[in-house]
Amino acid sequence: MQRRPFLATLGATAAALTTGARAQEPAGKKLGWALVGLGSLSTNQIAPALAKTKHCKLSAIVTGTPAKAEAWKKQHGIPDSHVYNYETFDRIADNPDVDVIYIVLPNSMHEEYVIRAAKAGKHVFCEKPMANSAEECRRMIAAVKAAGKQLGIGYRCQFEPHHRECIRLAREKVFGPLKFLEAGFGFQIGDPTQWRLRKNLAGGGALMDVGIYALQACRYLTGEEPVEIVAQETKTDPVKFAEVDETITWSMKFPSGVAASLMTTYGFNGKNFFSATCQRGRFGLDPAFNYDGIKGWTSRPDVKIQFPAVDHFQAEMDAFADAILNNKPFTPGGEEGLRDLLAIEAIYRSIREGKAVKVEAP
Ligand code: NAD
Repeated sequence: MQRRPFLATLGATAAALTTGARAQEPAGKKLGWALVGLGSLSTNQIAPALAKTKHCKLSAIVTGTPAKAEAWKKQHGIPDSHVYNYETFDRIADNPDVDVIYIVLPNSMHEEYVIRAAKAGKHVFCEKPMANSAEECRRMIAAVKAAGKQLGIGYRCQFEPHHRECIRLAREKVFGPLKFLEAGFGFQIGDPTQWRLRKNLAGGGALMDVGIYALQACRYLTGEEPVEIVAQETKTDPVKFAEVDETITWSMKFPSGVAASLMTTYGFNGKNFFSATCQRGRFGLDPAFNYDGIKGWTSRPDVKIQFPAVDHFQAEMDAFADAILNNKPFTPGGEEGLRDLLAIEAIYRSIREGKAVKVEAP
C-alpha cells in the first residue's frame, strides 16, 4: 500500500494516542493476533486476510461456542492453550504469543472487551462502530491509554487506494475547493431475528452499521468535523424495525462551509456511493464501500481513479502492526471512533427533537 504524505494529516488527533513504551521490535517479527468473536466477519474476511498479512498472524481465538473452537483449531493450527471463552478471556494476559486483540463482537460488547483486552496488557483493534455511545468510546480510549497500548478502529476504507486517492483529490483541491458532498450506504437486511435489529446489541440500525461509512467518508474527504446536523427518519416496516432505525437522511454543515447530504437504510439495496462537487468539477466512487469492485469516476477525462483491488482487512491490520512494531501512533484510532459516535448521537438527537442540532465536542 502506498503511503502518501498528505495522509499524515488524516486524524490529526492520533497524536493523542499513546504509542506504548515498547522498544522497536526485531525486523521480520509477526505480531500475534487474537480474534474475539468468530462470526461472519472473522470467518470470511479477517482470518483469510490475516493469512495474507506481512506483519501479523492468527495466534489465539476467543469464542463462546465450543464447536467453533474445534473447527478453528483444526483449520488454523491453534493449540488448546490459545483457545479462550468469554469467562477465561482475561487469562490471555499471560499468553506471550498474543500482541493484539481484535474485537469482532456485536457493537454493545465492544466496550467491555476493549477494556478487558487493555487490562490484559495487549494492543486492541476494534470493529466499527467503536461502541454504542460517545461515553463508551471515552472510557475505551482511557483504558487503552492507561495500559500504554494502541487502539485501532476497523475503518477499512481508509486503507483502500480509491478512497485515499479521493482524499488526495479533495485535500489538494485538484477540482478546486470542495463545495458539496453526497453519500449513501444501505442494503435490504434479511433475518428479522439477528442482533443488528436489537437495540441493546446494535445500539441503532442502519446508521450505526452502514451509515457510518457515508459519515466517515464526508469526514475524511473534508478533513473537518461536522458542526451542525439535521436528520429525518422514515420507516416502512415498523414491526421489523421496531427497535432500530430503518432509513435516515441527514445533512451536515462543516466549518469551511462545505455542505453534505447523506442517507442510510436497511430497507433497500442500491445506495453505496459518495460524490464530491468542487468549484471546477466532480468526482466520486460508486460502488464505494464494498470489500472489492470499488469504482471511481471524475468529470475530467484526464483524471482517473483506478487502482488494483487490495484486501482492506489485510491493509489495515498490517498498518496497525507497522505502527506497533515501529512505535508510531496509529490512525484511525479511538478518537476517530469517538468523533463518529458524536455525529451519530447528534443525528439521533436531531430526529428526536425535530430540529437542527450542534455536534458535541469530544
Ligand atoms: P456476526 O453476527 O456474524 O458475528 C458476531 C459474533 O459474536 C458471533 O460469533 C457470535 O457468536 C458472537 N456473539 C457473542 N455474544 C453474542 C450475542 N449476545 N449476540 C450475538 N452474537 C454474539 O456479526 P459480524 O458481521 O461478524 O459483526 C461483528 C462486528 O463486526 C460488528 O461490530 C460489525 O459492525 C462489524 N463488522 C464490520 C465490517 C467491516 O466491513 N468492517 C463488516 C461486518 C461487520
